[in-house]
Amino acid sequence: MPGDAALAAARVAIAPLYRIAEPEALAALAAAAGLTAKERGRVQARAGQLLAALRAPGRAGWIDQFLQEYSLSSEEGAALLGLAEAYLRIPDAGAKDALIRDKLGAGDWRAHLGAGQSVVVNSATLGLIIAQSVSEASEGGGALRGVVARLGEPAIRAAVASAMQRMGEAFVLGRDIDEALARADRGANRAYRYSFDMLGEAARTAQDAQAYFQSYLDAIGKVGGAEAAGGDMFGRGNVSVKLSALHPRYEPFQAGRAVPELTGRLIELARAAKAGGVGLTVDAEESERLEISLCIIEAAARDPSLAGWEGLGMAVQAYQKRAPAVIAWSGALAGAIGRRFMVRLVKGAYWDSEIKRAQERGLSDYPVFTRKAATDVSYLACARAMLGDQGLFAAFATHNALTVATVLEWAGGRRDFEFQRLHGMGEGLYQGLMASEKTAVRVYAPVGGYRDLLAYLVRRLLENGANTSFVHQIADERVSDEVLLADPVAAVERTGFSPHPAIVKPGDLFAPERRNSAGLDLSDDAAVAALLSSMRTAWAAQAPSAGKGGPVAELSRTELADAVGAAQAGQGAWNARGAHARASILERLADLLERDRAPLMALAVREAGKTLADALGEVREAVDFCRYYGVEARRHGAPVRLPGPTGELNELSLAGRGVFACISPWNFPLSIFLGQAAAALAMGNAVIAKPAPQTPLIAAAAVRLALEAGVPADVLRLATGGSSVGEALIADPRIAGVAFTGSTATARAIARALLSDESRPLVPLIAETGGINAMVVDSTALAEQVVGDVVTSAFMSAGQRCSALRLLCLHEDVAPAMLHMLHGAMDELVIGDPADVKTDVGPVIDAAAKATLEAHVASLKGQVLHACALPPDLADRCFVAPTVIGLEAIADLKREVFGPILHVVTWKAGTLDETVAAIMRSGYGLTFGLHSRIGAVADAVRAAAQVGNLYVNRSMIGAVVGVQPFGGEGLSGTGPKAGGPHYLPRFAVERTYTVDTTSAGGNASLLSLGD
Ligand SMILES: Cc1cc2nc3c(=O)[nH]c(=O)nc-3n(C[C@H](O)[C@H](O)[C@H](O)COP(=O)(O)OP(=O)(O)OC[C@H]3O[C@@H](n4cnc5c(N)ncnc54)[C@H](O)[C@@H]3O)c2cc1C
Repeated sequence: MPGDAALAAARVAIAPLYRIAEPEALAALAAAAGLTAKERGRVQARAGQLLAALRAPGRAGWIDQFLQEYSLSSEEGAALLGLAEAYLRIPDAGAKDALIRDKLGAGDWRAHLGAGQSVVVNSATLGLIIAQSVSEASEGGGALRGVVARLGEPAIRAAVASAMQRMGEAFVLGRDIDEALARADRGANRAYRYSFDMLGEAARTAQDAQAYFQSYLDAIGKVGGAEAAGGDMFGRGNVSVKLSALHPRYEPFQAGRAVPELTGRLIELARAAKAGGVGLTVDAEESERLEISLCIIEAAARDPSLAGWEGLGMAVQAYQKRAPAVIAWSGALAGAIGRRFMVRLVKGAYWDSEIKRAQERGLSDYPVFTRKAATDVSYLACARAMLGDQGLFAAFATHNALTVATVLEWAGGRRDFEFQRLHGMGEGLYQGLMASEKTAVRVYAPVGGYRDLLAYLVRRLLENGANTSFVHQIADERVSDEVLLADPVAAVERTGFSPHPAIVKPGDLFAPERRNSAGLDLSDDAAVAALLSSMRTAWAAQAPSAGKGGPVAELSRTELADAVGAAQAGQGAWNARGAHARASILERLADLLERDRAPLMALAVREAGKTLADALGEVREAVDFCRYYGVEARRHGAPVRLPGPTGELNELSLAGRGVFACISPWNFPLSIFLGQAAAALAMGNAVIAKPAPQTPLIAAAAVRLALEAGVPADVLRLATGGSSVGEALIADPRIAGVAFTGSTATARAIARALLSDESRPLVPLIAETGGINAMVVDSTALAEQVVGDVVTSAFMSAGQRCSALRLLCLHEDVAPAMLHMLHGAMDELVIGDPADVKTDVGPVIDAAAKATLEAHVASLKGQVLHACALPPDLADRCFVAPTVIGLEAIADLKREVFGPILHVVTWKAGTLDETVAAIMRSGYGLTFGLHSRIGAVADAVRAAAQVGNLYVNRSMIGAVVGVQPFGGEGLSGTGPKAGGPHYLPRFAVERTYTVDTTSAGGNASLLSLGD
């Protein structure tokens, strides 16, 4: 079929644009979005009229005023955002009060009263002022003390709740679909078409997904029931669906399962919509989901049961560089299915998180534009293409008057399209327009209870409170009409289509000092397929060397002693090369690691059982270590001139200590192995590196690359073998320092061994050991976020990270719901072959580890709250089921359990301090997690937690070199922190050099001083 071929071709054109350079993407779009001088004049005139009406006194809607009043750049705006996000979900009064104090405490709320004309803005503001005043009064200060103190804390809560609800109500059409339909049918609301959106977070569990599915189905039924018979499909009611709400694993790696299951669900909803004469639009979400969403939408659109129904549609985000190709694909889809397809063009709601994610993942470029004007240009180019495509029913979702005026210019006399706006926004823009231009306007109408509206509300506040936002600017008198109506095409042309200078590419995050390690876009099918194929080839080539007698044979005692001798002999010359030369070699090593990423990942997967994502992280961290220590070596390498009396030279310099023993574990067989060695080498030491006996192959590969990079063979020597090799190495008196990562018990044994020989110098031991890492969750935390972070922290890498979460401490009021969601989320984990892209949890390292973990679970059998089911074919291999165990008290967990076993305790309101103190009593101090929306709680925990790495409102694993220097205190290690600025000096001796420059004939420089 020609339509199918065109669709296939359109599909192929999408992927190459994913992270294309901004100038390349923009140049073509700017040409497509350009206006002739005449067109431009008309657009300006029309937009000017719209603007004048919008800016006329009394015209701004209250939300517009609200957003203006509480700009995100103001302290009050940020506080309001924090309050709105959390307040309505908090169950206990104590936490509510604490959040109010935290968020309202510092703001100058009175300054906002009366400034806006809206009664709603003022009444919400008043609520906040009352709350703040009572709060102040109850703490002994504040102007209104006498009056408001009598109102007491319940009054504060009531005032804030009402302020929050007022804000929320303005953004939702109804708490349920009946209420929303009734409101849509009232007065002026009748002039609009509607698309109803069932609010909620992305589903974390199958049960949540089922509940959302049901609520969509109910909504479709009711919207259909409320529709009059007949009429054009595009004029009818519509329901917007988020695929992330319909499946707990709507992710690229889970496509094998998520695509067919979601297709089935979407088809079921679409059939109901077809039966009810209702439209169905798939919302656009995060950029990595775009490709799989297209598979799902195409499969649904082609389902024979939907033939002839023109109600299916999708949103396309103009801020994505792929947007024009997706529009072309939609048109091709319409051609292939032989009926019109609805496309809602939006600019995109997740811009900030898209930028952050690409930076974290070290990707080649961003999937989105980095300048607001570029998104506007993309929007206009897409709009023009949509208007030119007969197969598409075009819907333009925007609140921007200039965008609207440009679309109208291109539409000419046509009215076979619609505009869309969000409920509560853009009324002023469209009210007049509907009458004067006879355009159809649809309102995107969120439906949901207070709890569910929070995330939505925050997104809207963020999006529209930003000072680049049209809605925000329009209410700001300081922003002139000229600025608001500035031509975006001219704006991007002026910059030469360049990206925003403040948003550097992910690779340049640490520029100019060093390059960020390159990531790999695991949502890019082609990239993943190429990686997997290289990994297979590499493994096939490497596998034979796994046998005895290969390059990783254990050194004999004599060989080991000879290696230490040779290293000692070579160290002086290595040290003498200087920090710059050594840093260059490390930087070369980093590049070689990136060159050999696939073979190294293959080893990490095969030898250490790492999943693909973990294996990638492993290589990236090793690369970052090499580059970071290179930079640090240069920083520490130059002698420091010290001040002193005239006629004297004083310099402090660092030098290598001699031969370092670097002993690393199997859980980071490349990054820790190489991190230790790179640090020691950077400071001019020679290194004997002993990897764990379980992972010699990847260590050998790393050493080969280091030699290829230019490290002399005698200066870096691999010493494979078990504990006896380590003991022999430590016992060698020529060893001048030890870097060790492993158990606390082994660290102690090493420390004792280093002291046992009376004649031996005292040498440094840098030890990173384990921890009983806890996460404290209070009642202000968001369950979905907590569950996501707990699953990541406790179960990824099969719990075999030193940073992994071992003890979850939940506020008792929220514990039952959070545990319920956690157990549901665990049931969605894929346990299996780590080489398979969809695997979340791979095996534990060996049979001994499995036996220890299972014995621990068996000893607490009666307290197991939940355990994942292990697929039967894995039961007799080295897999351990992720398990949650309930404990009575924090003290019940006495040792580190190194695997996917999570222990849970609850704590009562008001006992946060005791809870943290009890955690600290374990004596460990490695990582600590906190989930709370209250800044004062974070401050208190920060003051009390004696830990190396404290993470707030995120997962506790994945410390990044140079960003989160890693390492613990107490029983968890000696410090200094790996990947931090204090690490390298510990590998060096310090030497002071003093010369009396006058001794050989007076102080010439002093005598030659001029006047
Ligand atoms: C009916 C309707 C449905 C919607 N459905 C979706 C949906 O399914 N998926 C979705 O993601 N969003 C959706 N949105 C939200 C939509 O993306 C935002 O409302 C929209 O971006 C605001 O655009 P504007 O033209 O009103 O405002 P403007 O102020 O003109 O544009 C603001 C937008 O510009 C972009 N932007 C801001 N700064 C930059 C920058 N530095 N570089 C590049 N771009 C930048 C962002 O996309 C931002 O949202 C929907 C909106 C409406 C009205």
